[in-house]
Amino acid sequence: MKKIEHIGIAVKNLDESNELFAALLGEKHYKIEEVTSEFVKTSFFKVGPNKIELLEATDDKSAIAKYLEKKGEGVHHIAFAVDDIRAEMKRLEEQGFRLLNKEPKRGADNKWVCFVHPKSANGVLVELCQDIELDKS
Ligand code: ZN
Repeated sequence: MKKIEHIGIAVKNLDESNELFAALLGEKHYKIEEVTSEFVKTSFFKVGPNKIELLEATDDKSAIAKYLEKKGEGVHHIAFAVDDIRAEMKRLEEQGFRLLNKEPKRGADNKWVCFVHPKSANGVLVELCQDIELDKS
């Protein structure tokens, strides 16, 4: 793994939290993106070389809605940047980690993502993410 790509934080109200985090970090979010397949709306902040991702549920079916109900707002996951997500998925599976998706899926911020079950990682939901190569033709 290359570095921490971002830290994901579950929030109830994205607009309110965007203001709160802008006040906290001293800079506004630089993008908002809805991931309809995951029923979440996200916003991203830059903090030096790192990013913070805020996640709001857009539907009760969303994993974020379930998380908020169970645990309330707070740190939801830590995302690590990887060069080759399939190789990392294979490596982690061989190490006994439980992956939440067997195939990389399209996440926010133009990434292929895969999640590692928190039960297999000391309670931490881990996200792997690899930049999706943009077609430059
Ligand atoms: Zn994330």
